[in-house]
Amino acid sequence: MSGALAIGIDIGGTKIAAGVVDEQGRVLARRRTDTPGTDTAAVLDTIGDVVDRLRGEHEVSAVGIGAAGFVDASGSTVLFAPHLAWRNEPLRDAVARRTGLPAVVENDANASGWAEWRFGAVQGEPDVVLVTLGTGIGGAIVIDGEPYRGRFGVAGEYGHMQVVPDGLPCDCGNQGCWEQYASGRVLTRRGRAAADAGTAFGRRLLDAAGGSVLDIHGSHVTAAAQQGDEEATGWIADVGDWLGVGMAGLASALDPGVFVVGGGLSDAGELLLAPTRAAFSRSLSGRGHRPEARIVAAGLGPEAGLIGAADMARSAAQP
Ligand SMILES: [Zn+2]
Repeated sequence: MSGALAIGIDIGGTKIAAGVVDEQGRVLARRRTDTPGTDTAAVLDTIGDVVDRLRGEHEVSAVGIGAAGFVDASGSTVLFAPHLAWRNEPLRDAVARRTGLPAVVENDANASGWAEWRFGAVQGEPDVVLVTLGTGIGGAIVIDGEPYRGRFGVAGEYGHMQVVPDGLPCDCGNQGCWEQYASGRVLTRRGRAAADAGTAFGRRLLDAAGGSVLDIHGSHVTAAAQQGDEEATGWIADVGDWLGVGMAGLASALDPGVFVVGGGLSDAGELLLAPTRAAFSRSLSGRGHRPEARIVAAGLGPEAGLIGAADMARSAAQP
């Protein structure tokens, strides 16, 4: 039956990943392409092309878009996308017109969180907080088995909670945001600084990155930690420390049963999660006198966003 399949598209600042997804969250066909700059018409064209190609192989009933930006609570308009040119972009209707299929638009982190709840690491958990660790921190909240978007659609942007007054400057214009201390960019920043300073570890990172300081990324630090490098392991533990402190704050506000940690930095696994749990337990208000939320790694990897977007589109399109 055609209603069983939907296309999910994850639109990031540099890459567009798309797939045909079935009712069990399996990705049956994939396409990946570069995001064509910031021109909104070009991005819409690319979305249309990707859908056309995937529909050539499978009969689909709907299209779900996960976009890196603020999406209004009705799922029709991208209010603001920091890495794309969308400002109040009525993307849902534009995609529906271009493809002739019912469409939904969702924040990419919300789509990932939904996928983890439906098919991934936290199936059946009623109250879930997703923390996605990439260059920054993204997030999604599931309350009572429903995605929580907030009154204006921008809930879950907790990467920009201030954790250090007058702390490190953030792209958002504020200082001391959580993501400046607990995301992949911390490892990138420290790695490049170590390379600039010519430390032994900095030189190893520089070698791993092919000799250019600006090619050092957090993933090089994670890889070094996985090979047992003590300095890298310590840096990841520092990130875990900040992560647990921030999560304890989120637990005070939301009281989830489980936190699920996704994004590139979650590749560090227990090297990250063990210190996160320790800091969380240490920082939690009422610790020792209340049940503690579990902290687990995400289960679906980088395709979670497109899987969740497809699933949301399929359920919205079904009567
Ligand atoms: Zn910020």
